[in-house]
Amino acid sequence: MNHVLNLKCLICGKEYGVDEIEYVCPDHGNEGIVDVQYDYDLIGRRLSQGDLLHSTNHTIWRYKPLLPVQPDAAVPPLTVGWTPLYRTARLAAESGLKHLWVKDDGRLPTASFKDRASAIAVVKAQEQQAGVIAVASTGNAAAALSGLCAAVKQPNVIFVPETAPQAKIAQLLVFGSTVLLVEGTYDDAFELCMQAVAEYGWYNRNTGYNPYMTEGKKTVSYEICEQLGWHAPDRIFVSVGDGCIIGGVHKGLKDLLALGWIDHMPKLMGIQAEGSADMHQAWQNGENILTKPPIAARTIADSISAGLPRDRLKALAAVTETNGAYLTVTDNQILAAIPTLARGCGVFAEPAGATAYAGLLKAIEQGLVSPDERVVVINTGNGLKDVAGAMKAVEQVGTQPRRVAPDLENLKRVIG
Ligand SMILES: *Cc1c(COP(=O)(O)O)cnc(C)c1O
Ligand SMILES: [Zn+2]
Repeated sequence: MNHVLNLKCLICGKEYGVDEIEYVCPDHGNEGIVDVQYDYDLIGRRLSQGDLLHSTNHTIWRYKPLLPVQPDAAVPPLTVGWTPLYRTARLAAESGLKHLWVKDDGRLPTASFKDRASAIAVVKAQEQQAGVIAVASTGNAAAALSGLCAAVKQPNVIFVPETAPQAKIAQLLVFGSTVLLVEGTYDDAFELCMQAVAEYGWYNRNTGYNPYMTEGKKTVSYEICEQLGWHAPDRIFVSVGDGCIIGGVHKGLKDLLALGWIDHMPKLMGIQAEGSADMHQAWQNGENILTKPPIAARTIADSISAGLPRDRLKALAAVTETNGAYLTVTDNQILAAIPTLARGCGVFAEPAGATAYAGLLKAIEQGLVSPDERVVVINTGNGLKDVAGAMKAVEQVGTQPRRVAPDLENLKRVIG
């Protein structure tokens, strides 16, 4: 892996060889998040934009020379990546924009963005012949790890809050993971998982701790820019819980700038639920993100319910270094965005996915986005992940099915 230079601590700046530490900088406990650093000259010699033009690999592995894996590493056989980037003229017009795209990561194999990270986790764990991979999750990272492990027959242990939506729990059970429903919040599940990993020596996929998860998530930025002909958008909207996705989006763009494949950095817009807005508070009040005490998170968008955003260093940098912003939206705005997005472009998002679009609407309302900007909204999760949430959303906008007896006369009366 000579294209990976080192792992750099985001707190003290110390650089470690990839074999020197496993996850974090040992000088700061679990907070010592590190960033994977690359030799871009070497990568640029191994992969060009022209190579990609002719690549028939329509997965994240088309960018393998930019990923922290061995060139000959075996990768899981599920199709992760290269999700559609829809140009949505109607939704754009409705929101008063000229150029709007929706990147639909609800189309990934386990139906959320998390597959991008879990694919890397499986490769890294198998690199060291780990017996078991463990993760704590609000549900989607778990389902993603579960599915990718099933594809390669890798034992795994999952910690999720017992309140996780049924569909996500069903995925875990169907894929055959060892499933632990934690009687508490995601934050409780995370702490328990960290203790269990220390006790049993399992491979740790936890977000904001395992530095390679960012590296999987960054592939979405490669795809967005490539799908736009390497003409980077002006602004990208993404929902934020732990902050690993927005950090990954930022990392991917930084890679592309370093390679000279794009010519500007898009502004990153982190959207949080009002009841789970730790990043927004820290950003707005200029608080020290490392010492800020956790909040009690509460939102209908379960995937972004995080009292202590685990990837907060990268998440804060993503917004401040790109001149973006953090915004909050209410649960009602999140629910309203589900049918608006679905009816405007045919993409059905779970609450945390629709949160990004709700954030765009709020940003437009606040005059933060000008009409001719090129805007991308990422849908991070499929609507079928949370049918109860979707039913609440349609109820809120007054959409109801109509009952009809099975004969034409009756139908005519009902239709009127
Ligand atoms: C995990 C997740 C998010 C947020 O990602 P973070 O890295 O926790 O900020 C957003 N949407 C969905 C659907 C998710 O599963
Ligand atoms: Zn350090």
